[in-house]
Formats: sequence, structure tokens, C-alpha cells
Amino acid sequence: MESPFLKKIEHIGIAVKDLDTANQLYTLLLGAEPYKSEYVESEQVNTSFFKVGESKIELLTGTSGQSAISKFIEKKGEGIHHIAFEVEDIVAEMERLKSLGFQLINDTPKRGADNKLVCFIHPRSSNGVLLELCQSIAEKE
Ligand code: ZN
Repeated sequence: MESPFLKKIEHIGIAVKDLDTANQLYTLLLGAEPYKSEYVESEQVNTSFFKVGESKIELLTGTSGQSAISKFIEKKGEGIHHIAFEVEDIVAEMERLKSLGFQLINDTPKRGADNKLVCFIHPRSSNGVLLELCQSIAEKE
């Protein structure tokens, strides 16, 4: 049975120490360059995105020691940081998951990279994996 709520794995986020080196490696691996690089001020991270079929790989590196990504790498080393699911209505989905007992990290959706509204689910309530919900923001004309 298909999930009526989570539409697809939108991307997998990977924490890396050095974005340039990781970009080169993924460009070799995929035979394609990142389609986007973006600084996300609220998270103090630099990101780059690669298209893989209908999903993406998001490489993340911290731009300060305070960044969650820097702290993650310090504790656990480089590796998979989060899995992001695409949703159509992030507010409704946050309500649904909260009522089911999932622990949300942010109470309201926040602006993430790649034109998305995002919300994170604490790994404590999801088998040790940080989950992200993301909804595309409609492009303004
Ligand atoms: Zn993400």
C-alpha cells in the first residue's frame, strides 16, 4: 500500500566536511554536476543538490561550529544526516504526525534550501533517523 501522505523520498541529506571535495566526488559518481548550490543562513550551512531520478542528494556542510551539521560531524563523523519526504500540505502533515506522537523539532514550518518549507522530526521518535518533511513553495510570478 502506498503512503497517502508522504509522496516520495524528495532527497537524502548527507553531512560532509568539505563541500568542494564532496561535490567533485558526487559529480564523478553521478556523471552530472550539482544543479544548485545554496547557503542557508538559518541553519548556517552550505548545500549543493544533485538530481538522481525523481529524488535528490543534498550535500551539507556547516559554515560555523554552531551549525547543527558541524555538531553532527563532530559527534558522528560524515554520513547520512536526514531523509526528506515530500508532502503536499506541510501544516496538515505536522498536525497529523504530532497527534500520532511524533516529536517535531520545529512548531511551524521554516524556510529550507531549494525553495521548500520544511519541518524536522526528532530522531528520538523515528528509530534514530532525522526525518524532514518538505513542501515546495510555489514560484511567484
Ligand atoms: Zn534536507
